[in-house]
Amino acid sequence: LFSAIELAPRDPILGLNEAFNADPRTDKVNLGVGVYFNEAGKIPLMKAVATAEQLHQQAQAARGYLPIEGVPSYSSAVQKQLFGADSGLLAKGLVVTAQSIGGTGALKLGADFIRTLDSSGVVAISNPSWENHRALFTAAGYQVQDYRYYDPASHGLDLAGMLADLEALPERSVLVLHACCHNPTGVDLTPADWAQVIALVERKQHIAFLDIAYQGFGDGIEEDAVAVRMFADSGLNFFVSSSFSKSFSFYGERVGALSVVSSSAQEAERVLSQVKRVIRTNYSNPPTHGATIVSTVLNTPELNAMWQQELAEMRNRIKSMRELMVQQLKDKGARQDFSFVTGQCGMFSYSGLSADQVERLRAEFGIYAVSTGRICVAALNLNNINAVTDAIVAVSGT
Ligand code: PMP
Repeated sequence: LFSAIELAPRDPILGLNEAFNADPRTDKVNLGVGVYFNEAGKIPLMKAVATAEQLHQQAQAARGYLPIEGVPSYSSAVQKQLFGADSGLLAKGLVVTAQSIGGTGALKLGADFIRTLDSSGVVAISNPSWENHRALFTAAGYQVQDYRYYDPASHGLDLAGMLADLEALPERSVLVLHACCHNPTGVDLTPADWAQVIALVERKQHIAFLDIAYQGFGDGIEEDAVAVRMFADSGLNFFVSSSFSKSFSFYGERVGALSVVSSSAQEAERVLSQVKRVIRTNYSNPPTHGATIVSTVLNTPELNAMWQQELAEMRNRIKSMRELMVQQLKDKGARQDFSFVTGQCGMFSYSGLSADQVERLRAEFGIYAVSTGRICVAALNLNNINAVTDAIVAVSGT
């Protein structure tokens, strides 16, 4: 049965982690990861989460099956965070939300559901994008195309290229749009840019699928929702995949959600019934623990305030690492201008380092980054940043 089976290619980022773990150097630094590390270089367990878990443990709740669409109080908290507590869409019942196995699961649920609709069968993803977008939508039966996004010359957005490519797609194509903190570049659209994208989506009848995996890592929970809120105000039907992996430091708990915006409450009910069918035929119903904890934190004012405070500290720590990195590179006389790094958003930076420079960082200094030059700014701290900037200067010249 398996004699002709080929070895599947290794996931490039997980492969990088394996190489990092096998490296015997004690001063090695892993900037290739996609997780937030605190100042001590550890994945934090947030206090709000630990408190909610204690409460949950004391309650000794039974573990019956959840409804197919998940914990109801979780879904309503997700909706408020995405659309705003006073959203007219929520008041009118236009949004339905299903708990999912992380943000990845939300993308797959949406992809499978959209396949049953009248779409072009084409999905467009940004160039570059989170590497799983292409694989996931290909596996779900779509033809995947790129749209221009990142301009290496300016280290910013190629808005004209993006709009031209979205325009050239067949009508009713699915557009995967990073709502904030673009992975891997850290380059986001401004509200004015979003307005142009929304007008194009409407004219071409494209199906917008907003992927928001880093809400709260850019400028704040409300600020980072601007794209979602603008789409909500447009009156369009659209999809949102969201995740608490990063904002709750909850990676392994797999807590995400798929939200769908419809035109009427009746339509929304029918949409949810179909999303539930996708869930039922895949894994029947979601797990209890993670979403219950997130729901407890978001729906308990003191815990919510505690979580927001912790998230703000994480966000500010990343910002301060961006500033320190740029300052040190400048002070150390780096030939390349890295000042664009402070304008990027979220956990990542497309550092502008070439594949060769990244390879030298690994071989000569034990500093691991993705070959595209993506570095995780959240993996920098006061203990390792000096060594990192020394090494960058060494490989990029003075
Ligand atoms: N979308 C983007 C843009 C991401 O970066 C990630 C996680 N790296 C995901 C979705 C998936 O998130 P999760 O780990 O919650 O499945």
